[in-house]
Amino acid sequence: MVYNWIKFIQSILFPPQCLLCSSTNATTMDICDPCLDELPHNRHYCRICALPLPRHHAETAMCGSCLQQAPSFDHCHAAFAYDYPISNLISEFKFSGKLQSGRLLANLLINSIEACQLPLPDLIIPIPLHRSRLRERGFNQAVELARPVGRHFNIPVETHSCKRSHATATQSNLEKDARKRNVRNAFRLAGQIAHDHVVLLDDVVTTGSTVGEVARILKLNGVRRVDVWALARTPSLP
Ligand SMILES: [Zn+2]
Ligand SMILES: [Zn+2]
Repeated sequence: MVYNWIKFIQSILFPPQCLLCSSTNATTMDICDPCLDELPHNRHYCRICALPLPRHHAETAMCGSCLQQAPSFDHCHAAFAYDYPISNLISEFKFSGKLQSGRLLANLLINSIEACQLPLPDLIIPIPLHRSRLRERGFNQAVELARPVGRHFNIPVETHSCKRSHATATQSNLEKDARKRNVRNAFRLAGQIAHDHVVLLDDVVTTGSTVGEVARILKLNGVRRVDVWALARTPSLP
């Protein structure tokens, strides 16, 4: 009761403000409805890897890459195309440590998982950073996104069983084949995963090489189904 009063008084003194346009007509998620509508929701995509596809593609469409060779994961969900202003919110969170942006992004991901009624896994594994990158940044954005998602759906989040065993070059600077080589054997499992269905969570999926490599290792170790949940997927292969 007291808590509700405090929340009520806070909402009058500090009304939620939209992080994108500063309007005070925002929901408790810190975004107003018009800005929410205008986000680059990923509506037309490859049904396997979530690559954004042109509008005319059917719901069952697959991208050329998945048609050629199915990835190691079973299904990837990306809430948005990696485009403005989602790209800005992700940068503010990742590189400037703006926690408010991180909270909004986590809530947007939760909403889209619910809206799509995705099958819930037994375990969430955030894609690990190499310890040198972690030292430099101070936190792993995938872990910070995974925690509220896990809490919301009541799914355990495991941050120790998968390690990035060597630092890899930044994926965005590499061609697709080079990205695959870059992440090959970059991860190792620190123990057995005694779960049937695992979700790998990351902020942005680019070519899918990184999540594909972790999924490959998990499957080699007996995990039956590996899905990917991401905030955003880059629209086309550079
Ligand atoms: Zn707004
Ligand atoms: Zn695909």
